[in-house]
Amino acid sequence: MRPDILNPLFAETESLKGVGSALLKPLKKRQLTRLKDLLFYLPSGQMRRVKSDQVNAKDVGATVILTLTAKEYRHPSGRGPFRILAEDPFGGQIQLLWFGNHSSWARKLMPIGETRLVSGKLDIYQEQLQIVHPSEIVPLSEENSIPLEETLYPLSDGLTHRRIGQLIRQAWEKSPDLPEWIEPSLLKKHQWPSWREAVERIHQHPDDRAAKLRIGYDEIFANQLALKLIRAANRRKRGFPLKGDGHLRDALNLPFQPTGAQRRSLAEIEGDMQQASPMLRLLQGDVGSGKTWVALHSLLIAAEAGYQGALLAPTEILARQHFETLSQQLAGLPVNIALLTGRDKGKLRESTLMGLADGSIHLLVGTHAIFQEKVSYKNLGLAIIDEQHRFGVAQRMMLAEKAIHTPHLLVMTATPIPRSLMLTAHGEMDVSRLDEMPPGRQPVETRVISSRKIPEIIASLGRHIAEGGQSYWVCPAVGEADIEEAFSPNAIAAAEQRFSLLQQHFGKKVGLVHGKMKPAEKDKVMDDFAAGKIAILVATTVIEVGVNVPNATLMIIDQAERFGLAQLHQLRGRVGRGGGRSICLLLRSEELTSVARERLALIRECNDGFRLAEEDLRLRGSGEILGTKQSGESHFQIASPEDLSELLPIANDDARLLVDRDGGLSGERGQAARIALYLFERDAGVSFLRSG
Ligand code: ADP
Ligand code: MG
Repeated sequence: MRPDILNPLFAETESLKGVGSALLKPLKKRQLTRLKDLLFYLPSGQMRRVKSDQVNAKDVGATVILTLTAKEYRHPSGRGPFRILAEDPFGGQIQLLWFGNHSSWARKLMPIGETRLVSGKLDIYQEQLQIVHPSEIVPLSEENSIPLEETLYPLSDGLTHRRIGQLIRQAWEKSPDLPEWIEPSLLKKHQWPSWREAVERIHQHPDDRAAKLRIGYDEIFANQLALKLIRAANRRKRGFPLKGDGHLRDALNLPFQPTGAQRRSLAEIEGDMQQASPMLRLLQGDVGSGKTWVALHSLLIAAEAGYQGALLAPTEILARQHFETLSQQLAGLPVNIALLTGRDKGKLRESTLMGLADGSIHLLVGTHAIFQEKVSYKNLGLAIIDEQHRFGVAQRMMLAEKAIHTPHLLVMTATPIPRSLMLTAHGEMDVSRLDEMPPGRQPVETRVISSRKIPEIIASLGRHIAEGGQSYWVCPAVGEADIEEAFSPNAIAAAEQRFSLLQQHFGKKVGLVHGKMKPAEKDKVMDDFAAGKIAILVATTVIEVGVNVPNATLMIIDQAERFGLAQLHQLRGRVGRGGGRSICLLLRSEELTSVARERLALIRECNDGFRLAEEDLRLRGSGEILGTKQSGESHFQIASPEDLSELLPIANDDARLLVDRDGGLSGERGQAARIALYLFERDAGVSFLRSG
């Protein structure tokens, strides 16, 4: 239950004075639905007005307040802007301009011969000083209604800076003093204000560093504290110590020797699985580093110990591919493996469910369906989540809650996560890293090419497939950040367009796969591609994760500048899986921003997923990398990436100390920290508090 003291902060924005239905819509659009949302809505900057007696060219570019008298209206034949010629008290001249249909309104504000205070940005055009769309025009008596400093906010239609500022002020006045959750010595060292004072200061002086850091710290601290609580609760949970005798792993007959990194990671996992408290481990390995080998061996440890194992993939395609790979590798072993996806219905599904319940199925591969209500396991000992960046902390926790006893949990990701983000998104987990590639891999040769060259690219694509090669052609979504790329109508349109262009050249050798296709259709196309019946696969980012077709050695990415670095790296990882040389062509649009240029140059030069992830973080911010947009789990709202690297180590240590000393958060500081958890909506962590 949320502490009562926070109730005013969680009150609806509607309860503020002056918030009617007209204002609610834009507020909602900005997700400003509760008072605390307003308080944490950070300013984008501050405007300073210069008060001046005279119109002066040296003020061009500044926002000025001038005393002006209207002299003459100019409105050439009703077209072009409406102009008012005005004079300062010393006869200095200036024009006020309105575009669009605002002349009658402007006339009313500035009658000829009368004097007003006018504010706006001073411009110069053809040697004429002017103000376009003055933001304020008031009688001299209302001088104080034009503030000299105004805090600016990100706006949407129907909101003004001043309106938001007023609402935030109201919200702040209603906000309580909160007990201090920050260690006193830390507060003192950084000279941070109290929470309530920090909130006030940041809205009055957006560049107040101490205030911003204080609130940023609060947010990070709440996050780290929640993760530590989850971790501590996990340690106290009873799981099942699983010790395999190796008889199944020894019976495997794989065509390669594991890398040192694979052996090491497996040993770490094996050690965890032997413990009574459940494993919570992240296996991080770049695309192609051989995570499947580790997964297979971990699953076999569970099976050797007489328990079931489950492998969860993010997409249907990946689940099927895992199932096929693992089935082949397990051929001849006394292990029953089954596939379960959302679209399995009827008898087959029933028999899979029965097999899971009676234990005759040892290993299960599937999509989310494998952890739904109706699926019950006889004794699930190990759950593995592959390509985890599509799942959030909350979803991981739900999985852990699923089983009656807590299964060991291994999470695998190919997204090399920067160290700073690792702690914030996965702070509750131990980490193993596959930092060594299987031998014989050649780096993918990457080239950036203008999309004007598409005819030439099609010609070389023709030569490539004439020699028996296969190729991907990936299309992005355009301007629809909210929709998962693969499902975006735009991306599909782009992919369909490319598909028909390529079909004109290569006919039946071209296939198309995107997120909106029926699963069966998708599988058919993927199967045909894997079997070599299709030479060119046009796709949205559905193919981003995991898909493995070694003969495909050419990757073409349309409008590459629209993808994140980590995503490009993932896509590039689809090729370079066989022995031969692989090429990745990044098609770029004509007009590129300098950041886009920098990013494409980076991906061309750099094959190290970890380094790219760090750069991507620097260039794009954290949400994109963690895929939090897709999972709907927002990350940090207040702390910027730079603040994060400064504050995280401190917040992390402090959270750990607090949990070690006061796991139930029952002491005075613990109670205050509990309030922070709720305030920053990390209260999922509270349910893991040690009771008593
Ligand atoms: P990812 O980490 O991207 O999931 P995979 O497990 O799919 O990588 O492995 C990529 C490819 O490398 C597969 O074809 C796999 O069989 C092969 N592979 C994995 N481990 C080794 C190894 N130690 N030596 C040689 N090939 C390996
Ligand atoms: Mg994989």
